[in-house]
Amino acid sequence: MPATPRATRRAARAGPPRDAASLRAALVAARAPGSPAEVTERARAGLLAWLDASTAQPFETLVRALATGAVATQIGRAMLAQTPEPPGLACAAGCAFCCILPGADGATITGAEARALHAALAPQSGPGGTDWHPEACPALDPDTRMCRAYDARPMICRSYVSRDAAACAAIAEGRPMPGPATHPAQITYLTAHALARAALAGVAPTPTYALKTVAARAGASLAEALKTARHAPKSLDAERRRLVRGMGPAR
Ligand code: SF4
Ligand code: SF4
Repeated sequence: MPATPRATRRAARAGPPRDAASLRAALVAARAPGSPAEVTERARAGLLAWLDASTAQPFETLVRALATGAVATQIGRAMLAQTPEPPGLACAAGCAFCCILPGADGATITGAEARALHAALAPQSGPGGTDWHPEACPALDPDTRMCRAYDARPMICRSYVSRDAAACAAIAEGRPMPGPATHPAQITYLTAHALARAALAGVAPTPTYALKTVAARAGASLAEALKTARHAPKSLDAERRRLVRGMGPAR
């Protein structure tokens, strides 16, 4: 159900959503400029299917699930699970060039992912990824080069794959090379979160966070880690547009 100008005007007149029905109308009207139309409609269909299966939940619960990105993450993971693994991938345990994250930020993750990552890392102590490489994700085990929060790793860590580990190593050192690609589930998940943000305008904030900062602050309280890692609102749109620019043919 694409957002039509009439649906957008009707939702704007109705004001911020206050119950499941008006939340649905807001999701139908929401827009995510910059994402391809087919991606936007796939993300919207996922959000509406989730809402239609959840209307027995209190409105506050629905808002929280959308605002934290739990629903967007669920949509992305379901898409990943439904897609057969492309043949010929070089990805293997201990191959971790993709966990070298240049810059201070690392990657964009939702609140649900940030909380899960912090919960997985908080009980752990000892050396982190930077003992292997100065720009590695702190969640990496420097000896085994395995993720110390594997079950809680964010969508970007699940959707980035490559047929050429040497290309990943070159990219990690700042030399662009063809080879690695991000599964289409990644842009779908980010677009679902952008649609949720548009629908929840005036109701609840829908922040995103810096993966690397959350991992680096695992020894701090959750509140402190989230505060330090919280992105400016424009980061989500910038990340979507960056991903769309790099989109190749569907794998
Ligand atoms: S994406 Fe690249 S660095 Fe990461 S596991 Fe796959 S081949 Fe290795
Ligand atoms: S969370 Fe785990 S998989 Fe993701 S970048 Fe960090 S170490 Fe790698």
